[in-house]
Amino acid sequence: MNQNDSPFQSSPVLPEMFDGTKTIQFRCHKGIACFNACCKSIDISLTPYDILRLKRRLGISSTEFLEHFTLPFEMEKDGIAGVKLKPVENGSACQFMTDDGCSVYEDRPSACRYYPVALLTMRRQDEYVDKDAYALVVEEHCLGHQEDRRLTIDEYRKEQGLDEYDALSRGWRQLILKKKSSGPTIGKPSKRSLQLFFMTCYDVDRFRDFVASDAFNALYDIPGSDLDKFLSDDVELMQFGFRFLRQVLFGEALGIAMRMDIVEERRRKVMDNRMRLEREAAEQLARAEEGDC
Ligand code: SF4
Ligand code: SF4
Repeated sequence: MNQNDSPFQSSPVLPEMFDGTKTIQFRCHKGIACFNACCKSIDISLTPYDILRLKRRLGISSTEFLEHFTLPFEMEKDGIAGVKLKPVENGSACQFMTDDGCSVYEDRPSACRYYPVALLTMRRQDEYVDKDAYALVVEEHCLGHQEDRRLTIDEYRKEQGLDEYDALSRGWRQLILKKKSSGPTIGKPSKRSLQLFFMTCYDVDRFRDFVASDAFNALYDIPGSDLDKFLSDDVELMQFGFRFLRQVLFGEALGIAMRMDIVEERRRKVMDNRMRLEREAAEQLARAEEGDC
């Protein structure tokens, strides 16, 4: 990780990284004096699986969820799209906060589950595996650090149900790491690839319509049983989406078969079009030169 990626600059995250065996002192409960303080001023990034759980909890589509409960943001300069929870109108509190605590507690996002631990997924330039490390976030308003309970970060993650959340977000984190590590050589992604990334990662219901469309199936040769599975199960569809993006955006061969006759036909059309434009430009130039004589 280089210096610019440091999560520690001007933040309440302690400048030290740990593995899961690190013991922390922390307890959060309803009787604590700071109850809800952390939900009154939010800055919570969402993973695709967070969105899936919350839209299911609220009984709405991912498109409606994104519209009413999130704000888009740019995760990295030159573009990785991210989404954050949108606070209440004219305020900074979470829309899901009530006097009794979190109204979506069983489906709360990963970042809420992790707090006050921060997950840092990294890939060193000389290594080819992703590594999870953790940091501790210590904010003045949070009194949980003064409670008399000690446990390891691994135990805390288990208690917070994070194994499932992390496992189902891994494909998305790998996409982000891949984009980060590809750096400026890949350049600024096109508007179309940014839109594809956003839809595939965050708007699973729109991605489902896309995968079910004639246009998609004319180009991709997905076995019927796989297609049925993707179209009937949000989690399967989301994970297929991560694989699809790696193949489309990074050219990895991940076994999503394409109909080569259609690919060839499209390539031919692009070539024909390019040649037509070049011919027209040459003819135009020739006419202009004739006019000058
Ligand atoms: S989702 Fe729940 S836990 Fe997370 S900030 Fe909102 S109210 Fe708090
Ligand atoms: S102890 Fe920390 S996490 Fe728990 S309610 Fe208070 S501020 Fe929030």
